[in-house]
Amino acid sequence: MADGFISDDDIQKVREASDIVAVFSERVPVKQRGRDFWCCCPIHQEKTPSCKIDPALQLWHCFGCGEGGDIFAFLMKADGLTFRESVIKLAERAHIPISYGNGKPTGADGSYKARLKAVCKEAADFYHLQLMRSASDGAAKARAYLSGRGLGGQIPKTWNLGYAPGGGMLVRHLMQKGFSGKELIDANVAVAGRDNKVRDRFYERVMFPICDVQGEPIAFGGRIMGQGQPKYLNSQETPIFHKSTVLYGLHLAKNAMASTGVAIVVEGYTDVIALAEAGVKNVVATLGTALTMQHIRTLSSHAKNRIVYLFDGDEAGQRAADRALGFIDSSMTPEAGRKRIDLCAVTLPDNLDPADFVGQRGVEELRALIDGAKPLLSYGIERRLAAHDLSRAEGRAAAVTEALQVLAPIKDSLLAKDYAIQIASRTRTREEDVLAQLARLKAPRPVQSRDWGTDEQVKGNGAKEASAALPEGQAPVRANAQSTHGASQVSASEINRRRFERQLLCLFAQNPSVALSFCSTLAQTRWHDALHGRIADAMLEYFTEHPDCKAAQLISAVQNEIPEAGNMLTSSFESSDAAPDALALYLSEELSIGDLDDTIAELRAQLKDVNALSAEEYDQLFQTVVVLQKDLNERRKTHQVSSFASSS
Ligand SMILES: [Zn+2]
Repeated sequence: MADGFISDDDIQKVREASDIVAVFSERVPVKQRGRDFWCCCPIHQEKTPSCKIDPALQLWHCFGCGEGGDIFAFLMKADGLTFRESVIKLAERAHIPISYGNGKPTGADGSYKARLKAVCKEAADFYHLQLMRSASDGAAKARAYLSGRGLGGQIPKTWNLGYAPGGGMLVRHLMQKGFSGKELIDANVAVAGRDNKVRDRFYERVMFPICDVQGEPIAFGGRIMGQGQPKYLNSQETPIFHKSTVLYGLHLAKNAMASTGVAIVVEGYTDVIALAEAGVKNVVATLGTALTMQHIRTLSSHAKNRIVYLFDGDEAGQRAADRALGFIDSSMTPEAGRKRIDLCAVTLPDNLDPADFVGQRGVEELRALIDGAKPLLSYGIERRLAAHDLSRAEGRAAAVTEALQVLAPIKDSLLAKDYAIQIASRTRTREEDVLAQLARLKAPRPVQSRDWGTDEQVKGNGAKEASAALPEGQAPVRANAQSTHGASQVSASEINRRRFERQLLCLFAQNPSVALSFCSTLAQTRWHDALHGRIADAMLEYFTEHPDCKAAQLISAVQNEIPEAGNMLTSSFESSDAAPDALALYLSEELSIGDLDDTIAELRAQLKDVNALSAEEYDQLFQTVVVLQKDLNERRKTHQVSSFASSS
């Protein structure tokens, strides 16, 4: 069998040419029932058909042995093939020529992603060697440029810096190593010219390899040495590089983040290097994007205490600060409980960037500045207030309106009321007026960097429509709402919970277009079954690259990461009578209510530990529980009404 890689395009061609019903019927008799087909399972021995084939979704599932998946999964299971072998076998059946990539896989899993990583690793080594050893004028200029900016000595070695000469040198080098032009282009170290010739992407630039958390290069940033645009050129998104998840320097910063509990975020890679070399090692940079929720999640997993966003004092830094205010949401309020995110911000004074600041004022002063960073909420309010002349009535009125906008996303939180009262006192406005204005605010839709919706969106859109669509016999029964934490036996409510999770994931897998509008549910649900959590993550990851995917592609991709997922995700075909979006809304509200229930249980447990809390903290926590409980009761009432409606 041929070596080399099979591209996604080829896999897709094979998939389209291999009708699942036809492939099954070449092996066993297949009978149509309604819009589906049934057969005796080709995998386990049986006399009556329990294997269902769905021609619309191109999926199959055997209700006898529990196996299921797409067409490739069928050949893998029936004939004991690998995924790759099953593609080749079906390609031969359909007479589809496959263009194999050059060379052998280098990754343990032999995947195309591993291949692209190998391209980046080889490119990073090439650039580094150019910087350190090349006698060319360009390389000499790059060395001079770096040492002139305080990035000489050991720094190029520590940070694996490089020099990109351009002129096709990298392309020639990588092709000699056996990589194909397509692989270079897909890894974005090369581009295809108009004449279809493969050319270097980076020319005469100082190169900063961007690594994943393990320290493997997956992309590059290139800085121009003289004048010219763009000053910084980053790799575009590739199958192995997603700007919204990667942070520059994380692989070198993660230990310091764990030991200090603090993560510092700056704007540029040279800032990261300057701070780390000055001894502030728990620092990373975003890559030309605003901080995203995925970044925050990543950072929270390394730094347990807080994340400090350090903004440059210049205009661009201030624009970034304004963008960051779009991050404020309920995860910053006490209601978030243990999942609360402590995101702080500080602006460097006097138009300085972090590198200049450390150079001129020293590292101790920087540490003091970072320690004094304010929570993003008060930072944002201060910024808005500072933009107005508070000595004049019009100035004060405008300041109140703008400062309150910062609180809009969390307007119902107790914290918002506290801050509103502070705004009132700063602007010498009556508290009642400010609170009334707060209550009238509309919570904004999340900004683009937060792709997930909020709980409120799920809550607001009627569970009523969902109820009508629930198929008979599927009205979910919410067993007693007691938290099951610590119970040694799995309770009925826990069994129910996991069934709902499974049902929702199946629904999403079979209706990717519906799932796409429930990314918030996929991301925010506290999955009780760890497998469900991994499946949800795998789906989200696949959606970022393939928002238009079909069910079979999605399930196949998830199954390639998590082999046991295919059986599960094809297991629930029964719900095909219900409108999938309505059912998804219903199930997602069910899970969200369960999560809120868990949160309240956790907060109540904290309340029991009286000695750990000050009187003030106790009061605040108690109030929080009261508010959340009220919210929960309301939501449960609406939700139950809708489930009654469906069963009658
Ligand atoms: Zn079977």
